[in-house]
Amino acid sequence: MYWADELATKIDKTHQQRVDDMKTPSGHAHAGSLRAIATHGLLYEALRDQGFDVDFTYVVNDMDPMDGLPVYLDQTKYEQHMGKPLLQIPDPYPDTPFFNEGFRAKNFAGRFADEYIHAFETLGFKPQIFWSSDLYKAGLMDEWVRKALDNVEEIRKIYFEVAHQKKPDGWYPIQVICPVCGKIGSSLVTGWDGKEVTYECKPNMVKWAVGCGAVGKISPFGGNAKLMWKVDWPSYWAVLKVTVEGAGKDHFAAGGSRYISMEVMSRAFGLEPPFGFLHEFLLIGGAKMSSSKGNATSAYDFSRLLPPEVARFLFVRTPYQRAISFDPLISTTIPELFDEYDRCANQWFEHGAETDFGRFYEASQLGAPSREKVYLPRFKTVATIMQFPNVNLVQYFEAEKGGAFTPAELRILDERTSYAELWLKQYAGEADKYVVQRSLPDEAKTLSDEQKQFLNGVADMISGQGYSDATTLQERIYELTKTRGISSKDAFSAIYLSLIGKTSGPKAGWLVLQAAQNDKDFVLDRLRLIH
Ligand SMILES: [Zn+2]
Repeated sequence: MYWADELATKIDKTHQQRVDDMKTPSGHAHAGSLRAIATHGLLYEALRDQGFDVDFTYVVNDMDPMDGLPVYLDQTKYEQHMGKPLLQIPDPYPDTPFFNEGFRAKNFAGRFADEYIHAFETLGFKPQIFWSSDLYKAGLMDEWVRKALDNVEEIRKIYFEVAHQKKPDGWYPIQVICPVCGKIGSSLVTGWDGKEVTYECKPNMVKWAVGCGAVGKISPFGGNAKLMWKVDWPSYWAVLKVTVEGAGKDHFAAGGSRYISMEVMSRAFGLEPPFGFLHEFLLIGGAKMSSSKGNATSAYDFSRLLPPEVARFLFVRTPYQRAISFDPLISTTIPELFDEYDRCANQWFEHGAETDFGRFYEASQLGAPSREKVYLPRFKTVATIMQFPNVNLVQYFEAEKGGAFTPAELRILDERTSYAELWLKQYAGEADKYVVQRSLPDEAKTLSDEQKQFLNGVADMISGQGYSDATTLQERIYELTKTRGISSKDAFSAIYLSLIGKTSGPKAGWLVLQAAQNDKDFVLDRLRLIH
C-alpha cells in the first residue's frame, strides 16, 4: 500500500483536517528539506483524494534569529546582523528578481523563502503560505504568548520532565526584539507582570550574537517578542488550528522539540496536539546535507534536476519512514529512477491504481492522470541517441514505438530530451558519453582476429546495397554472428570498440547506419580498421 494512503487511514475522517509544515529561511534551502514538504504535501493530497475535508498550510519562520552565517555571504557585511530576526536583515541579492514578485518581504527571509517556495511549488506542492511575523504583528499569537508567560512554571516542569533541562527561576520561554539594537537572539526575558516583560540585551549570552546591553520593560505582544521554538511551534498549531504535522527524526529524538511542544500544547495551552509522524531524511550524495555549508545541492537545484512527476515519484516510491539516499553523480541513479517510473506508469495504464505501482504513478502526477496508454521513451536511450550528430529523435522513437507520436508523447520526448541534456552536462559519467571517434580508438587495438574478420564482414554487408533502416541492419548483423560462429558479445563489442571506443553503446545496427549516413567511406574504412 502507498505510504500516504496508509497514513491517511490513521487520521479521523469526521473532523476537518489541516496539514501543516514550516521552516526557517536561514539561507538556500538544501534539497534534503524537500523531504518534509513532500511528505506533508503527498499526505495532504492522499487525504483530499480520500474525501477528507482538508487543507494544507506552510509557515515561514521569518522571526527566527540569524544564528549562523552561510559561507556564500559576505562575512564582514553580515556579521553585524547576527542575532537579528531574519526579516530585519537585508536581502543579499537585491538586484535579482524574486520568483514570486508578489512577496512584499524583500529581505533576507523573503529572499530564501521565495527560492524554497518556488522549488516546492515546481514539484506541485502549493500550500497556503503564512509568515510568522504577520501572525505575531497582527496579534494572532498574543493569546498564546500570554498563556506561555502565565504558565511558565508548567512549561519549566515540561522541559525538566521531557528533556531533563532545568530552567532557572526567572526563565521565560520568550525573547523580545531589542528596541535599541534590533537583535532577538541576544535578549533575555527576566520578568512578567501581566502587562510587560522585563528584558536584558546580553552581550555574552550566546556565542553567535553580541547584545547591546540595553535593559528595560516592554509589552511582549503584537510582534515585540517571539516565543522560543519549542513553545513557538505549538502556538502556530493553536493559531492555525493545525491537526496534522510531522517532523524529521531530529525533532522526534528523546527529549526533542516535538515532545516538548506536544506537552506545551496540552498542558500550557489546554489543546490537543496535532497528529504527528516522524519522517526520514533525503540524503543527497550519501550524507545529510547542511544548508549552512552552501555547497550542497539546493532545493532549487533539485527542482530543476528532474521533471516534477519524476521528482515526486522519488518521494512517493519510498515510505516516509525510510531514508532516501540519492546521489545524482552515480551515473545510474537518474536513468534508473526514470526506468522505475516508467515501469509504474505502464502498471497504471494497464491496471490503474489497483496495483501499488500504478498508484505510485498516479500519486506522482500533478493532476489526475489519464488511463490512455502513452509511449515513454527510455531516458537512458534518449540521452545516448541525442549525442550523435543529425539525429531525428522523433523518428527514432516512433520507430521504437511502431507508430506516430501523439501530442502528449511528443511533449514527453521533448521534456526528457531537455532533462537528458542537463544530465549529460552535469551528472553523467564518461562511460555514458558516446562519440564516433575520428581516428581508430586505442581500445580497438586489442581486437582478436576473429573480431577483425567479423568487422570486415559487416563492412562488406553495408558496402553493397546498404540498409536504410536500423532494425533490418541489426538483424543482419545478428545473423552474421551466427554464420561466423562468433559470440554476440565479442561481435557487438567489436563494433562499439572500433567506432566509439567502448564495449557497449546504442543499438549496433543504428550506430553503424547513423555513422554511415554521415560518411559511409569513413565507416567502411573504420570497420576494416584502416584508420
Ligand atoms: Zn540590544
